[in-house]
Amino acid sequence: MIRAFWFLLLLALLSIGAAVVADNPGVVFLEWLGYKVDTSIGVLFAGVLLVSVSLAIIFRVWFIFRSAPRRLGKARRDWRRERGYKALTQGMVAVAAGDAQEARRQARKAENLLAEPPLTMLLSAQAAQLSGDEKAASKFFERMAARKDTKYLGIHGMLNQAIQEGDKDVALELAEQANDLNPKTDNVSKTLFELQVQSGNWEEAEDTVRKAVKDKHLDSDSGRRRRAVILYQRSIEAEGDGKLSDALSFARKANNLIPGFVPAAVRTSRLLQGAGKRRKAASVIEEIWVANPHPQLADVMEELSSGAGAQEKMRNVEKLATYNKDHAESHLAIAKSALAAEMWQEAREHLEAVANSTDIPSARVCRYMAELEEGENSDVVTSREWLKKAAVAEPDSAWNCSHCGQVMADWEPVCNHCESFDSLEWRTPPRVTRLAPIVEDAVETIDIEHESEAEANPSSGADAGDTSKT
Ligand SMILES: [Zn+2]
Repeated sequence: MIRAFWFLLLLALLSIGAAVVADNPGVVFLEWLGYKVDTSIGVLFAGVLLVSVSLAIIFRVWFIFRSAPRRLGKARRDWRRERGYKALTQGMVAVAAGDAQEARRQARKAENLLAEPPLTMLLSAQAAQLSGDEKAASKFFERMAARKDTKYLGIHGMLNQAIQEGDKDVALELAEQANDLNPKTDNVSKTLFELQVQSGNWEEAEDTVRKAVKDKHLDSDSGRRRRAVILYQRSIEAEGDGKLSDALSFARKANNLIPGFVPAAVRTSRLLQGAGKRRKAASVIEEIWVANPHPQLADVMEELSSGAGAQEKMRNVEKLATYNKDHAESHLAIAKSALAAEMWQEAREHLEAVANSTDIPSARVCRYMAELEEGENSDVVTSREWLKKAAVAEPDSAWNCSHCGQVMADWEPVCNHCESFDSLEWRTPPRVTRLAPIVEDAVETIDIEHESEAEANPSSGADAGDTSKT
């Protein structure tokens, strides 16, 4: 609009000028270098205009030619950049699709077209890894690690390679570097912790847990649990090194971090007893019995009265049970001690209390009943009936690895089969329940086959009971 206005204004001025010139043609006389020009003012103006326009055109053409190389260079760079980014994108798509050949082709193309190593090196490394060329990938990662802007990516790539190769020492070192460079990264903190646990660097692992909680990668409950497990392990190692007071201090800290953590309570109590503090040792067990009664705690309570007779031990367990007197574990702990002390009446009373509270008594109750029937009444037939029931009943709880299912006699911070950290849980092993009918049939078959043999040798039932109890 504004342009049109100016154009019209210029046109109007020119028209007025032309009209003025036409009305007043005048005379122009010029003599220069022997030439004589005799003309009107209109022709002179036309000549000046022609020369000006010609000069403007020449200047414009000269300018275009002069800036041509620069413009061509820029156009070429833009074109290369565009194609480079396209190759980069296609390369990433190929990596995601698992097409190694295409990924490498596009990576090479992107490398040639783009002068941006941070972007292309990662793709090249991934493409090399995809085609199984770990050596080439490692070179790219090393180059990335040498640059400030890609250091973390390079170290992270090398770390993954070291983990895949099973080189734990190198992996640990790289994980530490990666964590120092980027401490806020959840994944690296997790990897660092796992490597520290696997290599037994418990103190460092505890620091990693503290940092993870501080950086909010780990909630405080999980952090406390992990620290308690680590302190438990540090207590074992300190005890192994003969540093008993450190061992006790670590165990106590673990016990205080998670109330109800049976292994820590057991360890603390045993170490206290070793230090001659029997009363304190007992109070640790009594305290946890309120929240989490567990057969191993009752065993420790019996150990605390070492040197005492079976009946005195039973009374100690009975006292412990008062801290949670209606719990099945309380009845079972008393029953077990009573059987050992041949206090049949007490044993029966507590076993019946458990058996009556459930439709199907557990394997442990059945075994204790078998022991009772044989011990109190020498009733081998009833005892064997209970053993048959024990074979098909819900199996006893045990320390089970929640990752691989491994059953372990004692709780340990790391599964001895799959090396998972803190994976052991006290629960019923997941097998057997479905096999129950088959087991029942098998028991029946054995029963028929060995009927006469069993009658001839009544001790066989008691033997079986002892074996299952262990
Ligand atoms: Zn396991």
